[in-house]
Amino acid sequence: MHVITVAPIKRGIPVDELSYFTSEDIPPGALVTVPLRGRKTPALVIRSTPAENAKAEIKRAEFALKKLDHIHAKHFFRREFVDACTLTANYFATTTGAVIHSTFPNALILSKKVIAPPSREMKKPKRHGEKYVFQAEESERRAAYKSHIREVFARNASCYFILPSIQDIEHMYAGLEKGIQEYTFVLHGGLSKKELERRWASITTMIHPVLIIGTPLFLAIPRYDIESIILERESASAYSLQGRPFIDLRFFAETFAAAVGADIILGDLFLRTETLYRKEQGFFEALQRQKYRLPSLAKQTIADMRASGEQPATGKVAVCSAELVDILEDVRAKGTHCFILGVRRGFAPMTVCGDCGTVISCEHCSAPMVLHKKSGLAGEVSAPGHTDKNDTPRIFLCHRCGFERNTEILCPNCKGWRLTPLGFGITQAEEAIRRRFPDAQIFRVDRDVIKNHAAARAIMEKFYQTPGSIMIGTEMAIPYLTEPLAAVAILSVNSLLTIPDFRMGERVFRLLLILREKAREHFLVQTRDPNIPLFALATDGNIGEFLRTELDMRHRLGYPPFSTLLKFTYEGKKAEGAALMAEIEKTFGAYHPVTFPSFIVRIKGKYRTNALLKIPENGWPNTELTELIRTLPPEVEVRVNPESVI
Ligand SMILES: [Zn+2]
Ligand SMILES: [Zn+2]
Repeated sequence: MHVITVAPIKRGIPVDELSYFTSEDIPPGALVTVPLRGRKTPALVIRSTPAENAKAEIKRAEFALKKLDHIHAKHFFRREFVDACTLTANYFATTTGAVIHSTFPNALILSKKVIAPPSREMKKPKRHGEKYVFQAEESERRAAYKSHIREVFARNASCYFILPSIQDIEHMYAGLEKGIQEYTFVLHGGLSKKELERRWASITTMIHPVLIIGTPLFLAIPRYDIESIILERESASAYSLQGRPFIDLRFFAETFAAAVGADIILGDLFLRTETLYRKEQGFFEALQRQKYRLPSLAKQTIADMRASGEQPATGKVAVCSAELVDILEDVRAKGTHCFILGVRRGFAPMTVCGDCGTVISCEHCSAPMVLHKKSGLAGEVSAPGHTDKNDTPRIFLCHRCGFERNTEILCPNCKGWRLTPLGFGITQAEEAIRRRFPDAQIFRVDRDVIKNHAAARAIMEKFYQTPGSIMIGTEMAIPYLTEPLAAVAILSVNSLLTIPDFRMGERVFRLLLILREKAREHFLVQTRDPNIPLFALATDGNIGEFLRTELDMRHRLGYPPFSTLLKFTYEGKKAEGAALMAEIEKTFGAYHPVTFPSFIVRIKGKYRTNALLKIPENGWPNTELTELIRTLPPEVEVRVNPESVI
């Protein structure tokens, strides 16, 4: 008899190790299934102890040891992969099993067709992986990646190219596969289990080096000749998992590259502030000369919307500046294309009472209700000359929790009926542009009209094929803008800048740079506040100056990269949250936690409260602190350096 200690590959399990009985000795690294809460759960064997020596483990187990269910494979994960998962787990204060759950495709873990072949890894001495950053325009990055991949192939090694989304993967595949198509494979979660198994088998049996273009979820594929990992669109927030265990896949990819001795290249138009700081500190080499100033062929304009008669306090909005009208006339005359970014969905982002100023908010979660017109929810292309009728039904929709209601309500505070929409959303902008250019082909892309990847691609194709057409879209449209455009305009990003999160400035600056890169003749930013420095820095393409001011600000306030932020979130009854936060303030007193309600406090009747800890630079991971975190109730969400602190 043996006692086998395993790490269950599952999220949200408070313990990281469980013990089971087995008659057979099973080596560490084996993949087994164990009975857990009545389900067969995959688990990684950590160690095996003969039963007579395992008294301590038996004693520690408060319940009778169960029998192990099934041995799936004696060797499944390569050791370096498990090591990288453990390091990632330590950093994000979670368990190795939970990290494996997020870094290996669940569809394949117990597949009979995915059994790791016997290890071939000892053929070459272990390499020391180099770390590179690469900040340049997309066309330049693509050209450099092409020659880099050929160099890797030439030394008989493989390359794994990481991207955050299916659209990015398909777009990059089209640009890279020429001449190496038979060795190039795409892997992402949108493929069926059968297709994944088929590609997995082709990749692991191919003798020639391969190029794998995929999400980070397939890094563990047993190709022991991967000597280069490219992580593209390094700034994409999709790399940071929004559900448990809240790990950052960029951290994992870097850790994995170091463990297997592969080079890693982090590439983007504008890398994250944290990454550029690490470059300054000497953690990275530059793959080519870093660009801190991006040139542009387009005429750059910042339009002051106060000159267009905008008076936000009274609800009077101006959608188009005179400059935007000129640009659209030019695009129509030349038969080119214009993309217009609107950051808010719906007709009006907020409605207030004209008598007492109360904001109409959602009954379930307290977020402001967004006014939508039902007509704006249908159809992709409306006929030229279409005008909006006044009898279009309107609804209030909550963008936070999805609650929908009719608009026949009185002010909940004073029972007044003069409810006034404030600001404009993307459908109101569409209407205004349609009124100004009744004959124009106008397309729209946002979550209300585009439900999936195929629909987004189809509408983009129509847009690019229609001369003189206008596309108006939210941020969702940007990955689909794969070709350069004559004109790009931004309606307003002021609503983003009012969100009290320290990363917002960087996020808006990057958004502007990405759109500016696509513009060939005109780049226009509309704002009520043209004196905000980041607008001029963005239209100049001046990353260097932006980075200096951003690092100054973060240094002054003690934000990353000058600290590590730990955020604890509890969602539940208000009193329970308050009690828990008081407890956290006591337990973590030495680290000076700040507790505060979430930016959106109430979600579906539950209250969200947070505690934030700033750990000084180089003070994390920290064993003592990790032990304290393990004493928190499992309902508390723990995020390390989250995308958002609010
Ligand atoms: Zn009122
Ligand atoms: Zn709501």
